[in-house]
Amino acid sequence: MTFKEYITGLGFQENPFQHTNADKEKDYLSKYFIQPDYFEDVWGDIDSPVSNIIYAPRGGGKTAQRLMIEERALQHDNVLTITYTNHDLTSFKTASDVTLLYHLEYLNRLMLLAFFDRLNSLDDFRYMFEFSNSERQYIYKLCRIYLYETPASFPKQAINSLKTISDRAVDVWNKFKTPISEIIKKITKAKGLEVDISKIDLDKKLKMSHKDNFDNIRQLLNRLGLTTIYVLIDKVDEQSLTGNDPKASYDLIADLIKDLELLETPGMAFKFFLWDKLEPFCARFARPDRVFSYKLEWKSADLQEMLNERLSAYSDGNVGNAKALFHELKSLGRVILFSELSPRDCIRICNRILSEQFKLDKESRKLFAWSTNVAIDLFSKEKVQELIDNRGNLSHLSKVNSASFTIEELVSSKVAADSAAIRNIIRPWQTAGWLQKIGLVNRRNKRAVNEYAFIDIRFARYACNSISLDDFISKYVKKCTTENCKKISYRAFDKREYVCVNCGTSL
Ligand SMILES: [Zn+2]
Repeated sequence: MTFKEYITGLGFQENPFQHTNADKEKDYLSKYFIQPDYFEDVWGDIDSPVSNIIYAPRGGGKTAQRLMIEERALQHDNVLTITYTNHDLTSFKTASDVTLLYHLEYLNRLMLLAFFDRLNSLDDFRYMFEFSNSERQYIYKLCRIYLYETPASFPKQAINSLKTISDRAVDVWNKFKTPISEIIKKITKAKGLEVDISKIDLDKKLKMSHKDNFDNIRQLLNRLGLTTIYVLIDKVDEQSLTGNDPKASYDLIADLIKDLELLETPGMAFKFFLWDKLEPFCARFARPDRVFSYKLEWKSADLQEMLNERLSAYSDGNVGNAKALFHELKSLGRVILFSELSPRDCIRICNRILSEQFKLDKESRKLFAWSTNVAIDLFSKEKVQELIDNRGNLSHLSKVNSASFTIEELVSSKVAADSAAIRNIIRPWQTAGWLQKIGLVNRRNKRAVNEYAFIDIRFARYACNSISLDDFISKYVKKCTTENCKKISYRAFDKREYVCVNCGTSL
C-alpha cells in the first residue's frame, strides 16, 4: 500500500496535514478558514480605511487572515493590496538599523509598479490626456529612481507583493525575466507614449524625498481608480535579522509602526499581522491609542474546530470530526496540548502521526495512542532543535530532568559546574519566553531562591526525555480544576506543591 492509498483509505482526497503554510493551500483555505470575531473590523470600511495591528501566536493563523484579506480585496476593483513580507536586509547589520527610508523605498517601488500594472490593464484609459506632460515627466523620474536599478531580490518581492501581478493569466511582467525598463517601454508604447527610463536623468532632489513621493504615488494610483490601498505587513519575525527575537522583529518595523502621519494617510491602511510577543514593544513605543489592535487567541475548542473543518475540506465532507480519527480520545487531547495552542504545530503533529501510523500499521483506519505518542516525541524534539541552534545549550536542556527547577538544583544534579554557568545556560530560554520565574523556594537556614518552570511543554518534554511520555504527563503536567480557568502547568509536582498562576487554586 502506498501512502497515497493509505490517505485515500482514511477518506481523504489529499493528506490534510501536508501543508502548514497557508500560502501553500489557497484552494482549501477559504473552506476551512475560521473567521475570528474581529475579522470584519480588520477588513474595515474600504471607503474609509484604518490602520490596525493583529497579534497572534506563531503559527496562529496570521497568514491565513492576511490571505483572506487579499482574497476579499480582489473582489473590489478600487482596492489595491500590497503584501509586505519579503525583505532584503543584506545591507543591514541589525534589524535596528532599518529605517523608515528603507520601508518607503520598498513601498514606493511596489506602488509605482502597481501603477503601471493598473495602467496596462485599463483598456480605454486615455493616459496621455488624463496625465499632463509634466505629470508624465514626474512619473518617469520616479521610475528612474525606483524601477531602473532594482535589487536582485526585487522580482521575487514584486511577485509576492502584488496579487494582481502574480494572479493574472496574461502577464505583461513575464515574471520579470525582461528588465523592468523594457516592460515600462512596452506599456507606455501601448498607451501611445513610449518612454525609455534609461534615458531619464536621475533627479537627486526627488531621490531624497521618499515620503513626498509616497504620497504622490498614492495620488497617482487614486487617479487610476485605486482609491483604497491596504499594506499588509506579515512575517516580520521570519526574516534573516529577526529570527526568534521579538525585540529584533519589532525593530524591523519600529519606524513604520511609529509613524502616525504615514499610518493615517488618507485612502490607505496598514494592517500589521504580528507575532504576539511583539505586543509589549508596540505598547511601549508605538501609539496603541491611535492604532487599534486585535488579538487572536486560540482555545483548545477552537483547535478542535479547526481540525474538523480541515478534515472536512480535505475529505469532501466525509470526515467531519477529528475525534473519529483517533482510537483514543486522549490522543487528540495530547495533540492539542503539545501544539501549545498553535494551529500550525497541531497540523505538524498530526502529519507526523499519519506517517508513524502508516509505518507501523497501515491497515488500521484509526490513529492509535502509540503512534500518537511516538509522533509527539519526535515533534517535540524537532521543535526544540529548530528553536535552539546551539548544540551545547541543547545538550544542557536534555539534562535538566524536570519541568521546573531552581538554579541550585541544576548545580547539584551537575547540569553545569556552578550557578553562574547555569544562569548563562537558561538566560536564552527566558529571553525567548520558554522558561519563566514562578516564585521563591524557601530553604532551611539559607535565603530563598528563585524557581523556574517551562512554559512550553515541548521544552519540558525535551528536558525529561529519559522517561516515557505517559510518565512525563502524569508526573509533570496538571490542569487547573477551576471551571473557567483550566490552565495547564508544567511543574515538578513530585518535589513541591504549586498553585495555579492564573487563579491561585492548589494544583
Ligand atoms: Zn487556575
